[in-house]
Amino acid sequence: MGPKKYVFTFEEGDVKDKKLLGGKGANLCGMTQIGLPVPPGFIISTEACLTYLGQKKRGLPPGLMDQIRAAMADLENRTGKGFGAPDNPLLVSVRSGAAISMPGMMDTILNLGLNDETVKGLIKMTQNERFAYDAYRRLIQLFGSVALGIDDEYFDNIFDDIKEKYKVKNDVELDTKALMEACQGFSDLVKQKTKQPFPQDPLAQLEIAVEAVFKSWMGRRAVDYRREFNITQDMANGTAVNVMTMVFGNMGNDSGTGVAFTRNPGTGENRLYGEYMINAQGEDVVAGIRTPKTVTKLRREMPGLYKELEELRHTLENHYREVQDFEFTIEKGKLYCLQTRNGKMNAAAFIKTSIDMVNEGLISEKEAILRIQPDMLAQLLHPRLDPKAKTAVLAQGLPASPGAASGKIVFEADRAESKAKLGEKVILVREETKPDDIHGFFASQGILTSRGGKTSHAAVVARSMGRPCVSGCEAIHINQQAKEAIISGLTLREGDVITIDGSTGNVYKGTVPTVEPEFVEDLLVLLEWADDISELKVMANADTPEGAEKAKKYGAMGIGLCRTERMFNQPERLPIVQDMILAETTEERQKYLDQLLPFQREDFKEIFRVMDGLPVTVRLLDPPIHEFLPREEELSREITHLRDLRITVDGMANLPDTLKLLDPELHNKYAANLETITHGLEELKGKHLAEALITNKEAILQKVRALSETNPMLGHRGVRLGITYPEIYTMQIRAILEAAAEYINEGGRLAPEIMVPQVCTLQELVFVHNHVVQMHKDVEKKFGIKVPYKFGTMVEVVRACMRAGRIAELAEFISFGTNDLTQATFSFSREDAENKFLPLYNERGILQHNPFEILDIKGVGRLMAITVEWARKTRPEVKVGICGEHGGHPDAIRFCHHIEMSYVSCSPPRVPIARLAAAQAKLKEGEYEFV
Ligand code: PEP
Ligand code: MG
Repeated sequence: MGPKKYVFTFEEGDVKDKKLLGGKGANLCGMTQIGLPVPPGFIISTEACLTYLGQKKRGLPPGLMDQIRAAMADLENRTGKGFGAPDNPLLVSVRSGAAISMPGMMDTILNLGLNDETVKGLIKMTQNERFAYDAYRRLIQLFGSVALGIDDEYFDNIFDDIKEKYKVKNDVELDTKALMEACQGFSDLVKQKTKQPFPQDPLAQLEIAVEAVFKSWMGRRAVDYRREFNITQDMANGTAVNVMTMVFGNMGNDSGTGVAFTRNPGTGENRLYGEYMINAQGEDVVAGIRTPKTVTKLRREMPGLYKELEELRHTLENHYREVQDFEFTIEKGKLYCLQTRNGKMNAAAFIKTSIDMVNEGLISEKEAILRIQPDMLAQLLHPRLDPKAKTAVLAQGLPASPGAASGKIVFEADRAESKAKLGEKVILVREETKPDDIHGFFASQGILTSRGGKTSHAAVVARSMGRPCVSGCEAIHINQQAKEAIISGLTLREGDVITIDGSTGNVYKGTVPTVEPEFVEDLLVLLEWADDISELKVMANADTPEGAEKAKKYGAMGIGLCRTERMFNQPERLPIVQDMILAETTEERQKYLDQLLPFQREDFKEIFRVMDGLPVTVRLLDPPIHEFLPREEELSREITHLRDLRITVDGMANLPDTLKLLDPELHNKYAANLETITHGLEELKGKHLAEALITNKEAILQKVRALSETNPMLGHRGVRLGITYPEIYTMQIRAILEAAAEYINEGGRLAPEIMVPQVCTLQELVFVHNHVVQMHKDVEKKFGIKVPYKFGTMVEVVRACMRAGRIAELAEFISFGTNDLTQATFSFSREDAENKFLPLYNERGILQHNPFEILDIKGVGRLMAITVEWARKTRPEVKVGICGEHGGHPDAIRFCHHIEMSYVSCSPPRVPIARLAAAQAKLKEGEYEFV
């Protein structure tokens, strides 16, 4: 048996064997094997790495260098270039790559194979002396730091000295001579630090680089990363080394480089989309040094290559069945594809491409549904600039990520974060952005850059997050230090407000009004497919006819929660509600309830009409009633003020006499006017207005004090109110049933669902149910028709979960109020926890999430599962839903599907998200694990 095979060409590597070849390597094999023009190369396996790390002696494992030499000879043959050949040098890139992508391992080394001789060959090939020396100095630094372990700082110091010597700020301003000096300085440094010259033998360079990659697997950062993220040996063991032929886009006017998407990632349009530069290298595109051209121009500039690029686009999509984001280089008229990955797109583009791909037969409807993250749909609900707004454009950049946003300018990501924490809306304005600005993206309403194209970092990241972005707005001159930006002669400072429109690329001064977005047609198609698949129904939480309209528009299949108290807050109703609360006797209270009844009945009827036969669940009054009264401190302040006023008025009545005593002359002068004022004040006092107001306010204050509770959210609310003031619930029940009867009389169809909040024992439910039965009889008699209805309860307290079996004897439906159930399960006040200790809990990892936002499946979810099981034992057909904030979150929806609930209910704009998530929950049900 010969030595073990460690080296695999891209043609022969097994695409599926990521453990052996690493993720990157397997991908390169895949690309090569489907016929993509990948520059030739090979992979040194993870097995070689493990053998190296496991052996006692130094150097690469026996036989490995022979295999590398053979692979390099093969590359020489295939490229017609020579490794170390002075005229026609073959250069390679060397990259690490484990089964799982992992920061902390070795950086890429480019242009390996350059030395004092081959650099001249590179000049000949590219006709670009500056480029060649730039490549060479980069190789010496990268090789020196990552392969030879010399601190980057030494290289940087040398480079800074050179920049100072030539009086330049940026690397790009250095000329050939300066870069040659850098090469010399770097080589001297290597010699000084390693006592060896920078290796001139390309094979020696390769050998050292491979060894450095292997060692980086056990480097501190890589080890820590594996420990932190629990990456076991099973998942990734050792790193592979990828060696690939360098190709150059800067070898003349028949060369170039670019990045492209197989479809437009902003709109989804099925056309090649991207940018390129002739006679340039990839770095020039990324660094935004030259402004690239749109890829359609290539059709005229290099028609043959444009055709090849079109073919490449089809090959990529047919194989990956996803929109691809790929990098290409043209070297002397030959096209290469260097990298491809699934394209990041905004939601509109994701949806359009999904529908198109289904229509093209490329993917199935199910795959279309699964490829979109439900939360992405939130982007489609982004506002856009009001077309009627009259505004002058300050500057125009590239429309890099659609949507409009206004905010105060900030120039740094950290600043964006700190301002956003204070509740301010900010726009991050930078020359260009970097990956470590990401927190600034999260904190900002939008991003504006003065440099970079539509594929720049800012554009790609903003698009994937659905943040509006205008990039490459060259009319803006940013002075980062001075924290100011000059646009068309106007100086803008931090804190000044601007508006950006990522759909047009326009930038405006100040705030421009925005309008709600339209629902895109494609989304409707996708959501219809989703609805056909889902088992969970998606309802909306809506409290008013307008809310119901919105819910309907977003495709809600009914209303899962109508909070009746919201109807009490309108200006013409609140005083009646307050009088009702202040009433001392039941009769008096009834008088005000009778005034409220028509309002409620009209609202319900309007909601029933909008929902047109779809289920509507109305919850009886829930919050503690003192919430409808003014706050105690406010009232006290007002009463004191009124009393002061009364004293002032009394004092003013004595003013004429006082003045007469002090200065009779002055009194005579104003006697007539004083008399008028005195009369006015007497009249005012006669009306006893102040006294009446004070008495009224004092009565309210007394009631507020009487109703005050230490823990109102755990106090006199929900069904407890319904039991102490049955007339309130009776009025609401009557309003619901009469509205239903009237609607049915008009030809409508429906069965309203009456829901009782905060129930913890069956007896509470029995009490309310008796009232419902009685009222139902009365209404049917009054209208002379049948009025179907359902009776059910919310489950928001732990005892209700534990007694679900009994509660289901009476409840035809139950709805988890997970806002309160979370509060009850954790004993965390839903009012205070989120701004007191929860952030620290999350920071310290004591809790992974805020349970009021992300459903705590392990705790609250477990209670829900038990409740469903026990309730169904009593009443198998019981309808079970969720109406807390969690009802619109994909993870919670997956869980609700898993425990076979009937519906979820959420705020109207989250309905589309929930519909998609419900379909995905069904499609992925087999993979679900409830631990
Ligand atoms: C709940 O508790 O989850 C709920 C929907 O009710 P509210 O938020 O109105 O208390
Ligand atoms: Mg509740």
